[in-house]
Amino acid sequence: SAASASGTFKASDLQIDFCPPENLKMKPAVKDLVFGRSFTDHMLKILYTDQSGWGQPRITPLQDLRLHPAAKVLHYSVELFEGMKAFRGVDDEIRLFRPNKNMERMNRTAARCSLPTFDGDELIALLKKMISVDQEWVPHTESSSLYIRPTLIGIEPTLGVQRPVEALLFVILSPVGPYFSSGFKPVSLLADPQYVRAWPGGMGMMKSGSNYGPTLEIQRYAEAKGLHQVLWLFGPEHRITEVGAMNIFIFLDKGNGEKELVTPPLDGLILPGVTRDSLLTLAREWGEFQVSERDITMTELVQASHDKKLLEMFGAGTAAVVTPVGSIHYQDQVINIPTMDHDQPLNQRFYNTITGIQYGRIASPWAMSI
Ligand code: PMP
Repeated sequence: SAASASGTFKASDLQIDFCPPENLKMKPAVKDLVFGRSFTDHMLKILYTDQSGWGQPRITPLQDLRLHPAAKVLHYSVELFEGMKAFRGVDDEIRLFRPNKNMERMNRTAARCSLPTFDGDELIALLKKMISVDQEWVPHTESSSLYIRPTLIGIEPTLGVQRPVEALLFVILSPVGPYFSSGFKPVSLLADPQYVRAWPGGMGMMKSGSNYGPTLEIQRYAEAKGLHQVLWLFGPEHRITEVGAMNIFIFLDKGNGEKELVTPPLDGLILPGVTRDSLLTLAREWGEFQVSERDITMTELVQASHDKKLLEMFGAGTAAVVTPVGSIHYQDQVINIPTMDHDQPLNQRFYNTITGIQYGRIASPWAMSI
């Protein structure tokens, strides 16, 4: 990978302080796993300063951070994160899924967030090392995985609204079960055009924490209405952009046997999902239907539903691979979508292919053994 303006840390400089055996934690039973609630025994930390560049990577026992109360992250949300997973395959091999895509996105976000960039291959090497240290935390079952949360924060202890000259990259690991406890039961969505997640010229395409905090109250509002997730619309024409923290896919019947898979284009409002890219690539390889990155509005969706041309709608993301959508509550209407009411739903074919690669049942260059 190209050297960056901030230089890079080196995996070969890694220092490991192992957690003493008496402090190792009990691993929760797979059936008790709740997303992001339990963490492994170790973490990774790398300090950066403008003066000395990146420091030595260190794996240490999982511990609280000590930050000065003026640390920039606490005032101006100078923060970004990634979400990726390690999977224990049917052959007991542990694999990452396209980790280079997460590293590219993390570096793009760092550059936009005034945080230092680095060589993604070096962080991948460190992630592999870290996962092998905590390898018993990678669940021994195909419904579960180890979630990886690389995080980068500005920690310079000064209040000026200026780019931080000190930063901390850290990584924590969390064993996770299926993201949605409802399993493959289709979810219901609130589509309320008065709330907007991202806008032209904004940060929608970046995985910065500042994009997520403002969505939590709208999610709560959807739940208070008895709905599962928020469908994010944009603009006077009510363009469909994303669902919750997932990319959105819509499968349409075009008539005379033609079908079209639609997802909104990467126009700056959309997070460039690794899952999104993977589904588009698979669909284009299969070559069985039209694959479009184009705008799609609520008007088109309502019309397609009315004409019985709306076949499937599903979210796509690392957490659940695909999440079928069953209904949308939009203004005074409820749009019901027969996403799972087909012989072989497309979203299930995607799910089986992606998880097949992740758990080592299907050989693919997208899977990287640790
Ligand atoms: N959109 C948003 C807003 C997200 O936070 C995520 C999760 N990173 C996604 C889409 C899906 O991206 P990925 O497939 O890389 O998990």
